[in-house]
Order: sequence, then C-alpha cells, then structure tokens
Amino acid sequence: MTAVRLDHLGKVFDDGTVAVDDLSLEVADGELMVLLGPSGCGKSTVLRLVAGLETPTTGHVRFGDRIVDALHTRDRNVAMVFQHYALYPHLTVAQNIGFPLRSAPGVAELVASAAARLGLSDVLDRRPAQLSGGERQLVAMARALVRQPRVFLLDEPLAHLDAGLRAELRGEVAATARRVGVTTLYVTHDQVEALAVADRVAVLRDGVLQQVGTPGEVYDD
Ligand code: ADP
Ligand code: ADP
Repeated sequence: MTAVRLDHLGKVFDDGTVAVDDLSLEVADGELMVLLGPSGCGKSTVLRLVAGLETPTTGHVRFGDRIVDALHTRDRNVAMVFQHYALYPHLTVAQNIGFPLRSAPGVAELVASAAARLGLSDVLDRRPAQLSGGERQLVAMARALVRQPRVFLLDEPLAHLDAGLRAELRGEVAATARRVGVTTLYVTHDQVEALAVADRVAVLRDGVLQQVGTPGEVYDD
C-alpha cells in the first residue's frame, strides 16, 4: 500500500524561486523514506507541502488515494519534529509527551508506552532542563508519536546534536519509527545519516529528484 504519493509536485515561491520541480514519489505504508540533498535543494519545502503548511503550485499530495491539498494540517494527522524542538520548560517529561492528548482517556498508558519505546521511562518526572540534548530530542519525538499520527515528518532532527550523540541517536530514531510502524519522511543533508536510517533514500538537487533507492542502491551509484 502507498501511504503518501507525491504526484508531479511543484512549488514556486512568490519571488520566483523554484523550490520543488515536478517531483513524483511514492512512500509505502510504514516505510522510512529519507529526503537527502544539500541545503536549499527543497527538502523542507517537500515536508511542508506534505504537512499542509504550504500549498503546491502544481501537482498534488495524496494520502492513500485521497488528494489532501485542501486539507488543513490538523486534518491530515501528521506529526512533525524539527531541529529546534520546543518543549514546555515548566512541564515534566510525562506532561510534555502527553500534552497533545490533553485529557483524553488513557493518557497515562499512551504516555508510558511512547516513553518506553524511546527509552525515556526513567526520566518521566524530570523537566527539560534536567535532560541531555539527545534526551530532549527523544521527548520531542515521543510527543509527536503519542497521537499515533498517520505520517511522521522529521526535519534534520539530529542536526544540532554533537557528532557522538548524533551517531547514537541515528539507530534509535530508525528503530523507533520501525517499531511504531509509522510512515516516515526524514529530511537530512547528511549522507551517512541517510544511509544509516533509511528504508529508501530520495536524492534531491535544485528541487529535482535525482534518484530513489535503498541505501545499497544509492550508495553503489
Ligand atoms: P532545504 O530544506 O533543502 O534546505 P528549502 O526547501 O528550505 O531547502 O528551500 C528550497 C529553496 O526555496 C531555497 O532556494 C530557498 O531559499 C527557497 N525558499 C524556501 N522557502 C522560501 C520562501 N518562503 N520564499 C522564497 N523562497 C523560499
Ligand atoms: P549533553 O551531553 O547533551 O549536554 P548532559 O551532560 O547535560 O548531556 O547530561 C548527561 C546526563 O545527565 C543525561 O542523562 C541527563 O538526563 C542527566 N542530567 C543532566 N542534567 C541533570 C540534572 N540537572 N538533574 C538530573 N539529571 C541531569
């Protein structure tokens, strides 16, 4: 099953910048697709189009068979994690993770399960200031996953961490997305990171899709 389909997607900004050019790509259910390319190649714009934060100039974004172009972000059931996560400093880890659920039934169980998946069970009572940078990023991911989104969007989630932590968390992020089974679009400019986490990699340059394949296929080229 195809979860997300980009269909001749294009984005031209008002100043004439062509950020995304006739991009067609299919992401399978539960797949972790990495968008890889240098700064300015259009990766974030693709994520923002999938999230509904930008409107396509041409083409469509489909979830399954449904064109979602007219759907508001909140109606797309996507969860996003950016490089600069914003946790609530006065709330505990558990309260941060549960925040999107407000007072829905079963919050405690959902929070506990999201925390366990990300190895955060022992820090649930801490506040963000008492966490390492890596732990904070994992809390941001747990908070995004707790609503059981249809599509998970990660924009350079490890870029601000130091090299050691980045290497450590690569495996963690990929393993979490697989365990949860959520369809994931993961943006990075770092080839090592892309090859480490991806089921498949889509290589972008100047808004144009250059190639799509498994890490083995892309690495061989
Ligand atoms: P990446 O995520 O790969 O760094 P972006 O998607 O952020 O690339 O940007 C792609 C291109 O679109 C760049 O040339 C960028 O300067 C331009 N761009 C991004 N957002 C806007 C905007 N709101 N208005 C005009 N140009 C933009
Ligand atoms: P980083 O290398 O990201 O800066 P730190 O050295 O800040 O990480 O944190 C290392 C470990 O110490 C982490 O597991 C973190 O949870 C814990 N820690 C950091 N600050 C505190 C604190 N004030 N109280 C309790 N634990 C803390």
